[in-house]
Amino acid sequence: MPLLTTNTKLEKSLELGYRTFGIHLAPEKLSGFNVCKNSSAGCRAACLNTAGMGAYSSVQKARIHKTRLFFSDKDMFMEQLIKEKLTKKATRIFFIFIYFFIFPKDTILNSFC
Ligand code: SF4
Repeated sequence: MPLLTTNTKLEKSLELGYRTFGIHLAPEKLSGFNVCKNSSAGCRAACLNTAGMGAYSSVQKARIHKTRLFFSDKDMFMEQLIKEKLTKKATRIFFIFIYFFIFPKDTILNSFC
């Protein structure tokens, strides 16, 4: 199961010379790991996690799988991410929780952007 995916919105970056991929993770505690530590009852209720392609159970399962891999085996996650980045020749990788880009200070993003 690939970590990196793209969509028509991300592909628009090709016009600017960037090949962009996203990593969709499962928000809040859906994976058993709390991704959204500062979430509120309101945002969880309005979360777009199930919007668009997120409506499909296979998409939800994939997001949960990626999130569990990230928290349970970061070395394997990073190894796979690097392989995919090289294979797909990504110039930008974003972590995507639904459709919002979130850039926590201490994530691994800086290694790839
Ligand atoms: S992804 Fe955003 S909206 Fe959804 S639960 Fe997490 S913090 Fe709330």
